[in-house]
Amino acid sequence: MVVAIDGPGGVGKSTVSRGVASELGVAYLDTGSTYRAATLAVIRADVDPDDAGAVLDTVLGVDIDYDDRGVLLGGEPVAADVRSAEVTRDVSAVSAHPAVRAHIVGLQRSWVDRRDGKAVVEGRDIGTVVFPGATVKVFLTARAAVRALRRAGDAEAGGASVTDIERDLERRDTADSSRSASPMKAANDAVVIDTSDLSADEVIAEILALVEAARSDSEE
Ligand code: C5P
Repeated sequence: MVVAIDGPGGVGKSTVSRGVASELGVAYLDTGSTYRAATLAVIRADVDPDDAGAVLDTVLGVDIDYDDRGVLLGGEPVAADVRSAEVTRDVSAVSAHPAVRAHIVGLQRSWVDRRDGKAVVEGRDIGTVVFPGATVKVFLTARAAVRALRRAGDAEAGGASVTDIERDLERRDTADSSRSASPMKAANDAVVIDTSDLSADEVIAEILALVEAARSDSEE
């Protein structure tokens, strides 16, 4: 059973996805961090993030994995390093290359396979491309100002102003939803939840109710 949780930055995806995974007792995969680890490898190799061939060669040459410590690059835990401003600046360019996506999507699918297909997976294209057959698909949204305020409280914001954060989120949203390879969008059968005026616990409860409903449907 896969629960797919998609949406732009700052909607509360990580908090909510972790909460749902822990309530269900299944694994949690943050796919954004896998694209961030690929981007960190590209930056460390001093490769131009727009150079599709060189980016692909770099990404194919490194080992990206994910465990309780978060994302790993060549076995090294890099959860903190991948939140840097440099990685955030380049990640949309790296993740727009179709061949890079194909490789990373393969890693994401086999990661879930190794957990008996049971996981809460968060990202941008989980319900549309990575797990189109997911048991429950949710697309989270929130007003831009609310998202920027939430991000301002994250370590990765590093003291940036709310206006700058809002501008950066909008830049990435535009890049992520206008790219030709797997653009960010809600699957036709996703339930859209506006989290602007909800607490994380309320969103978690809503998603758990969807899981419960899907389970009783499949038992009928
Ligand atoms: O969720 P997070 O902000 O860490 O994602 C970083 C970036 O990774 C996104 O802006 C997007 O460019 C890319 N991404 C993606 N597909 C996913 C998850 C993230 O393209 N499934």
